[in-house]
Amino acid sequence: MKRVSTKIRCFMSLLLLAFILSTILAVPLPAQASSQEKVVLAKGTVYATNMYIIRSGKPGPVVMIVGGVHGNEPAGYIAAGRMINTEIKKGTLIVLPRANKRAVERSVRYYKGHGDLNRDFPTSKYGAADGTLARAIWAAVKKYDVDYLMDMHEGYNYAKLQSSSSVGQSLIYYPTGYFRSTVSSIVYKLNSYISTNYKEFSLLRYPTRGSLSRAAGQYLGIKSFIFETCTKQTLSTRLNYQQKAAKTLLSKLNML
Ligand SMILES: [Zn+2]
Repeated sequence: MKRVSTKIRCFMSLLLLAFILSTILAVPLPAQASSQEKVVLAKGTVYATNMYIIRSGKPGPVVMIVGGVHGNEPAGYIAAGRMINTEIKKGTLIVLPRANKRAVERSVRYYKGHGDLNRDFPTSKYGAADGTLARAIWAAVKKYDVDYLMDMHEGYNYAKLQSSSSVGQSLIYYPTGYFRSTVSSIVYKLNSYISTNYKEFSLLRYPTRGSLSRAAGQYLGIKSFIFETCTKQTLSTRLNYQQKAAKTLLSKLNML
């Protein structure tokens, strides 16, 4: 009888040990999976355009990436579209790839009969955005409490060429908080891939009045910038720069 109870005790001990080991060695449960939600801005109007919200499920910054404010700047709206599938480990990523969808579909800066979307945003603290589309975008920026905003654009020349009035190949930011170090590191990173001096990205301040980036920075305190690639390069080079800039921003925020 005694032998039997020893055996049982031994068996129970082994069982307990196996349980403890399996608990320790068990593969940890996956972190809360990220989710993607699609919302339609300016729904029910001719301006209706998709916006994607990628939530990591963990607290962190809200970053908004916008493309297609100007419909004839393909690196902007294609690169923004590619950001939809970004896996993030914290915070929220909001992507509005084709802000001015009608202009993108026609490859024009803005749709005829309508003004330049990048002049339709508030130019005073309590001012309103102008027009259905700008109002919808402005409302979304406020609704989702955006912390960082990158607006992807293109220019026809290199910013460093004295003869040019284009601000192309540049990062133009609105100075707020400690944002300069973040945008400097984006420019520094990109320029490390460029060997020709005049093709380097310039770091400039103050996006033009009426632009989404300017209004977001000046009136909502959002750390925002316009990123411009020069259309004299191949589309794949420009896409590469746009995506690298966006990913450098997300990396700096520990979201990748
Ligand atoms: Zn533009």
